[in-house]
Amino acid sequence: MAESTQDTAAVRNPSGHGWCAWHENYARDVRLISVVEQSSGSGWNLFACRPCRQAYELVPFADRP
Ligand SMILES: [Zn+2]
Repeated sequence: MAESTQDTAAVRNPSGHGWCAWHENYARDVRLISVVEQSSGSGWNLFACRPCRQAYELVPFADRP
């Protein structure tokens, strides 16, 4: 098993800039909240920015137990 030099924090929070599905606009510091998988086809990911995560009490996907 080869050692990885990648920063795990960067992997858990890639780019940080993206589409917030809650206020429907681009925002900084978005996190992956939920992964919707459909049996009939491709699913999609929902991201939320920091203010929306606080407003809606959203827990990032990577931070769930
Ligand atoms: Zn938002």
